[in-house]
Amino acid sequence: MAGEPQEDCLFCKIAEGHVPATVVRETDTTVAFRDINPQAPIHILVIPKAHYRNAAELAAAAPQLAADVLRDAGEVAAEEKLESYRIVFNTGAGAGQTVFHAHAHLLGGRGMQWPPG
Ligand code: AMP
Ligand code: ZN
Repeated sequence: MAGEPQEDCLFCKIAEGHVPATVVRETDTTVAFRDINPQAPIHILVIPKAHYRNAAELAAAAPQLAADVLRDAGEVAAEEKLESYRIVFNTGAGAGQTVFHAHAHLLGGRGMQWPPG
């Protein structure tokens, strides 16, 4: 059920502390940790601790929690001294989503191209 921990969800396990991660920020409702396969000098994932499949499901079911994720992404960007950065929510396998627990990618520390690939 949306919001409940899911078995076999990697990010639920990270949120519960059962899988190690390089955590840079944690609140009552969110965790931010470094991506294991960084696509930019700074690549941090911000997740809600509760399980939602993607950003839209998160925002529909728990709008304050979606706002918490965005706030944390901005605050981590400031802590990392990023003046410019990109926040990405891949949604669906065709868009590159591989972990079906909502997460914001915070990317920065290099120039960014538009449109993205
Ligand atoms: P996405 O492809 O949008 O679903 O993003 C999933 C991200 O999770 C990818 O950028 C992966 O590199 C990252 N990832 C996978 N496993 C781990 C892990 N154990 N710790 C940190 N990041 C991970
Ligand atoms: Zn999960």
